[in-house]
Amino acid sequence: MAEVDVLVVGAGVSGLTTAVCLAETGRRVTVRTATEPARTTSAVAGALWMPYLVRPVDKVTAWGAATLTELRTLADQPTTGVRRTNGVVLAPTAIAPPAWTETVAAVPCPPADLPHGYEVGWRFGSVLVEMPIYLGYLADRLRAAGGRIEPGLVTDLADALTVAPLVVNCAGIGARELVPDPGLRPVRGQVVVVENPGIDEFVSEHPGASPWLKYVLPHRDTVVLGGTAEPDRSDPTPDPSITARILADSVELVPALAGAPVLAERVGLRPARPEVRLAVEDRPAGRIIHNYGHGGGGVTLSWGCAREAAELASGT
Ligand SMILES: Cc1cc2nc3c(=O)[nH]c(=O)nc-3n(C[C@H](O)[C@H](O)[C@H](O)COP(=O)(O)OP(=O)(O)OC[C@H]3O[C@@H](n4cnc5c(N)ncnc54)[C@H](O)[C@@H]3O)c2cc1C
Repeated sequence: MAEVDVLVVGAGVSGLTTAVCLAETGRRVTVRTATEPARTTSAVAGALWMPYLVRPVDKVTAWGAATLTELRTLADQPTTGVRRTNGVVLAPTAIAPPAWTETVAAVPCPPADLPHGYEVGWRFGSVLVEMPIYLGYLADRLRAAGGRIEPGLVTDLADALTVAPLVVNCAGIGARELVPDPGLRPVRGQVVVVENPGIDEFVSEHPGASPWLKYVLPHRDTVVLGGTAEPDRSDPTPDPSITARILADSVELVPALAGAPVLAERVGLRPARPEVRLAVEDRPAGRIIHNYGHGGGGVTLSWGCAREAAELASGT
């Protein structure tokens, strides 16, 4: 008999959250990961609850709402890295309210409150997740439920099924080679982390189709400034010209950021797909559950997708 009930591939937010859900139902769970949690795309994220670059809309709305409820509860525990906060999303042209504005009961900004250059905006309460802390919290919660995390590259899902009869594929952009899935494409994101000069509320430009994003996401001691969304670019090295532009854009958005010391520049590859793949693949040797392709909303959808993945495992 296998000593492991479930092998989860990947220790980003999708893998760790799914592993927690499965381990807390009493299964023996091992997470195998090519990189430690702190070196995943998940660790780079800002991370604001707000769906972006992820489909389909109806499922995203349901997964997002479930996740928001869970994250709001976690915000009541000071060690999780999650906090509730308010802020605004602004658009330079008049657009219809995005679907997610209903989930957070977003209120249109009065025209007099809109900064120069913006036509519409919404104010709402959301959560910000300080990912390096939050991933540590999830890893600790997994271990407390009896799960383990081990380093290792999975090169073949068939081999993974020799370790456990149930494999959950949460490989993020790594699923492109592992599955293989050529429909999964990297969308490179660069951010700059600065010391927090005392900012509490988030500000984000509504992300359109441009590779340039503008957002300011304050955590306790730091602020994550963004950013970019560069399709099919995988270069992991921060580009100094992009950093300079992010800093200039952020100061324009929030003047209090002027002169804030830069602590880090980070790059991550969003796993973008026409639709999130949350599905069962049964093989003679066992069951594979795929949970990847969360684009720019992996944190936003994490608990909704993880709980559904755990339900898909319930027949095994
Ligand atoms: C700049 C930036 C800002 C973002 N901001 C937000 C935000 O504000 N809100 C939000 O919700 N989302 C945001 N995102 C998106 C979010 O970060 C991703 O959707 C999310 O991190 C995807 O998580 P994941 O666990 O699926 O993948 P990852 O975090 O990439 O984790 C994948 C894991 O799989 C492992 N792996 C891969 N291949 C293999 C293999 N063959 N064998 C073993 N292990 C393997 C990796 O080592 C890693 O542990 C942002 C992303 C970027 C880049």
